[in-house]
Amino acid sequence: MIPMNDLSIQYKKLEVEIHNSIDRVLEHGKYIMGPEVLELEKKLAEYVGVKYSVTCSSGTDALLMPLLAWGIGKGDAVFTTPFTFIATSEVVSLLGATPIFVDINPETFNMEPILLEQAIKKTIEEGRLKPRAVIPVDLFGLPADYEKLEAIAAKYNIKVLEDAAQGFGGRLMGRKAGSFGDAASTSFFPAKPLGCYGDGGAIFTNDLMLYEALKSIRIHGQGIDKYDNRRLGINGRLDTIQAAILLSKLSIFDDELKLRNEVANKYTDGLKEILSVPQVPNGYRSSWAQYAVLAKDYEEREVLMRALKDKDIQTTIYYQKPLHLQTANVKLGYKEGDFVVTENISKRIFSLPMYPYLEKKALEEIIYTLRSIF
Ligand SMILES: *Cc1c(COP(=O)(O)O)cnc(C)c1O
Repeated sequence: MIPMNDLSIQYKKLEVEIHNSIDRVLEHGKYIMGPEVLELEKKLAEYVGVKYSVTCSSGTDALLMPLLAWGIGKGDAVFTTPFTFIATSEVVSLLGATPIFVDINPETFNMEPILLEQAIKKTIEEGRLKPRAVIPVDLFGLPADYEKLEAIAAKYNIKVLEDAAQGFGGRLMGRKAGSFGDAASTSFFPAKPLGCYGDGGAIFTNDLMLYEALKSIRIHGQGIDKYDNRRLGINGRLDTIQAAILLSKLSIFDDELKLRNEVANKYTDGLKEILSVPQVPNGYRSSWAQYAVLAKDYEEREVLMRALKDKDIQTTIYYQKPLHLQTANVKLGYKEGDFVVTENISKRIFSLPMYPYLEKKALEEIIYTLRSIF
């Protein structure tokens, strides 16, 4: 069997170090907000190239907390794409604000800047909701077009929250994913490019006021001490054990990115004549959270995925059902046909196995299986 992801190879590589670092936490006993948490935050901020990093309990909370800090709620509009994981719009709705979807670019699968500006203008004209923020998603590891998106956000004075849950490790214009916007969020869910052994996440920012607010929100809105609560918050901390694990994994993360790039390049070489392969525009680097290809149509995708399944090769469809068509979002009032690019791509896309340690032989088998169909 060739799985979508195999975390056991990385575990074997780091086994001794990870066990030692977990043992250290068990010995010192500071399970909550222990020294490893602070060390990890320092290292993450350095890695990404921002002033501050706040770790937290998941990528979802990493999106929720900055929105909470900015006071986003009822009557506010937050723009994002319908071609992402449900968490990106869920946090907006949880706060009582309204997600407004913006269609994607057919080549990068990321938010189309022109359509963002159109959506902001329309919202202002309608006058029902106040545009407050945009959450661009670095889909499959490729950073969104921040040069254009940040300029539009500045023009309309709205916040940018980069959803780098998949993008962590990617780059754009010499800057790392996680450094864009007013704040950025990432996830350490095990299958993400940098994952822990449970749930975890982090927020990045250069804004000192936001940094202080996030640290407070993470601990129930705590003020000067635990008897003082200044604002509404959540229990949003990252476990010390997970921080210790992430410190080990961060030490080999750049080597793993290189390996992911090699896997992606081999896929692209082997598949570009038969399928639509991922586009990485000039000046961009993907973290290759996923390697997603496009079939000609729905029927061809069925045939290709079936052929791989017959060879015991796993595939997954990210994302089969766009967010504007999810039952949880019925109240938003969207319908089929509202986002034609997203809908078209969701019927043709599928992801192939992708992890740093995917062996040459397995890669060749996947490519050979797909080529033999054509
Ligand atoms: C995984 C993911 C999240 C949520 O992260 P969790 O750690 O699972 O809460 C948010 N946005 C995107 C784009 C993701 O891929």
